[in-house]
Amino acid sequence: MPTIQPPATVLVTGASGYVAVPIVKELLDRGYNVRGTVRSLAKGDYLKNLFKAHEPRFQYVIVTDMSDPDAFDDAVTGVDAVAHTASPATLRAPDAQALIKPAVAGTLNILESVKKHGSSVKRVVITSSCATILQPKEGDPVFYTEADWNDHAVNEVQAKGAEVDQQHKYRASKVLAERAAWDWVEKHKDEIKFDIVTILPSFVFGPLLNETRSLSQLNESSLFFYEAIKAEKPPHLATKWFSNIVDVRDVAVAHAQAFEIEEAGGERFIAASTPFSWQTIYDALNSADPPIADIPKGTPGAPIENCAVYVSEKAQNILGVKFRSLQETAVAMVNDLREKEARWTA
Ligand code: NDP
Repeated sequence: MPTIQPPATVLVTGASGYVAVPIVKELLDRGYNVRGTVRSLAKGDYLKNLFKAHEPRFQYVIVTDMSDPDAFDDAVTGVDAVAHTASPATLRAPDAQALIKPAVAGTLNILESVKKHGSSVKRVVITSSCATILQPKEGDPVFYTEADWNDHAVNEVQAKGAEVDQQHKYRASKVLAERAAWDWVEKHKDEIKFDIVTILPSFVFGPLLNETRSLSQLNESSLFFYEAIKAEKPPHLATKWFSNIVDVRDVAVAHAQAFEIEEAGGERFIAASTPFSWQTIYDALNSADPPIADIPKGTPGAPIENCAVYVSEKAQNILGVKFRSLQETAVAMVNDLREKEARWTA
């Protein structure tokens, strides 16, 4: 028995985000009703317009501050499941708490609201991150699975305070938010009628459905991609392992499958395709058919240095996700970004 099935209603928090909009689309395409939370009328109206072919199955509600303990009380009322994607995803935070506080509070508040007001909710799927598993390890390559936890980032934030680097701030916020969710479920397991699933995407690339009227609206991972193909990275940066790639459309499928597959309950799932360096992206784009113009060349064929592999067999086996290749994702992203860029400069 699927946990939920269409035409059930799913609440998607942070519905305006790069990762969230394809989740909304995937759910609507499967026949679900979707209620999205956004922080402004303009963001809600953009989505209303984007999904007008699905009227009236897409609705939005405004939740301006998810750190408010009652923020999601109304939003969860009457829904059958929740995808909690909202979390600050930036590497330009003034301090670690600017990320950690909303990430943890938002996660705990959605769970509390479901406990109090979401009597029909069967499952909450939380968008975590491979940032939560990236504990430093020796070796080349090294392998990461769902058994790993990146306590290192949390320790770095505690030890270095204001001096800690941006990546550790973001990683710590994701570790602490996901841990808070599992701890909360353990504490309340006898009082709740729903379970949780966490999806851990690696670095997400692929076509953008979120509003991007200017360069400044690109989310962090899209901006990384945009900048890397605009100006060739120096060799030592181009060949270094950067992360694992995952297509935003596959991340959406992983979330939707997590709702429908009963045995996914109570599990973490890495959503990742393959390791990449910027050189591997350059090579994939330069060997595409049809060819993509004006892509940096770098050092063609150079191997990835200090490679780490996020093992995603669990998502493939249990959720049935078939991850797109690096080349398919990179080509789709560059074509989409260039089309958008032509409109920015027009
Ligand atoms: P976006 O910045 O595009 O989306 C973030 C979403 O969270 C937006 O809807 C944003 O709202 C909302 N949000 C951020 N801060 C708050 C806050 N304080 N209160 C309420 N809402 C907030 O980034 P992504 O789409 O990339 O990230 C979405 C999720 O995916 C995050 O949980 C992120 O950690 C996770 N993720 C992303 C990866 C990637 O490579 N992109 C990789 C792994 C995980 P608004 O639009 O109003 O700013």
